[in-house]
Amino acid sequence: MNDSWKKRTKAVHGGTKRSQFGELSEAIYLTQGFAYDSAEQAEARFLKTEEDEFIYARYGNPTVAMFEERIAALEGTEDAFATASGMAAVTASLMSLLKAGDHVVSAKALFGSCLYVLEEILTRYGVEVTFVDGADLDQWRAAVRPDTKAVFFESVSNPTLELVDIKGVAEIAHAHGALIIVDNVFSTPTFSRAVDLGADVIVYSATKHIDGQGRTLGGVILGTTEFISKTAEPFLKHTGAAMSPFTAWVMLKGLETMDLRVRAQADGALKLAEALQGHPALNHVIFPGLAAHPQHALMQSQMGQGGTVLSFDVKGGQEAAFKVLNALEIVKISNNLGDAKSIVTHPATTTHQRLAPEQKDELGITPGLLRLSVGLEDPDDLIADVKGALDAL
Ligand SMILES: *Cc1c(COP(=O)(O)O)cnc(C)c1O
Repeated sequence: MNDSWKKRTKAVHGGTKRSQFGELSEAIYLTQGFAYDSAEQAEARFLKTEEDEFIYARYGNPTVAMFEERIAALEGTEDAFATASGMAAVTASLMSLLKAGDHVVSAKALFGSCLYVLEEILTRYGVEVTFVDGADLDQWRAAVRPDTKAVFFESVSNPTLELVDIKGVAEIAHAHGALIIVDNVFSTPTFSRAVDLGADVIVYSATKHIDGQGRTLGGVILGTTEFISKTAEPFLKHTGAAMSPFTAWVMLKGLETMDLRVRAQADGALKLAEALQGHPALNHVIFPGLAAHPQHALMQSQMGQGGTVLSFDVKGGQEAAFKVLNALEIVKISNNLGDAKSIVTHPATTTHQRLAPEQKDELGITPGLLRLSVGLEDPDDLIADVKGALDAL
């Protein structure tokens, strides 16, 4: 692979390793182990003297390695480690780095499971976590201390689509020597500029746009060779959240079409958001691609496009929101996102059900809020579907 290739070329050819047969499509090496020619070779492999030599699939596998190389090339990081799910990537990025007595600052608007890891798990092991309003740089400035080891945030929060200024937070955190760990799912690798903006570690749920067709669960941690090989990899090798070779193959195929899919979905999301804006049945539409979004300018410099997910608040609370969900024909009620199929979810009763009512209020997860992940259907059909359901109220 050539480093000067553009993202779309890397997404198709990056990381490819061919066997002696020269297969064009990537091979699935469904093997847990590798036979050595001699006892000496086995010894040498365990010393890990050479790249691309494999020992055991919990440590690495040729198909998984192809996925890791390809996604690292796209994101612009030196290295990557693929995991069994997005949550395995989030958990390992934090647990591999932190120890009792360390301090972490995190945005409070997080995906429910991320919040659980920071609030319930890390604290149980003696890590102190301070939560801040991610969009307010003054709060980051006040919370980051000389003993802060890492900061964590979602570059676009779920489900209220608030952006965190990666560059701004990175400047604050780097001044204290803290590592910036970004959950970058909603930005997608297509729109991500996280490395240029100062992120040190980037995690993705590959379940979302990377597969993009709702088939497999996966994740990835991206960073420097130093972080991946010395911090993340030892933790992951020994704790076991490895990606399966079959999943890695699905993800490799996903990366080939991701750019086309994500751009088409983002265009559809903008059209739908524009069409819904001002609808009499809605209190408001939230989409970073709309000029009315308070962080529209930050979105333009950080992502270039608003992404593939929008949220809107239905007048009449949960009852009205449920009526809308039940009236939709094309858009499916489910809780994945980034899928080819448009998906809608009611965060207050599903993904964020666990939160106390005050927490929901604080995060803007109102009873009428719906989160819609725009798929690959014709935007005109989606507009008609959603408008039809709203008009029926
Ligand atoms: C889905 C998601 C995760 C978790 O990913 P899984 O693959 O479901 O484990 C983490 N963070 C964000 C922002 C997500 O949307």
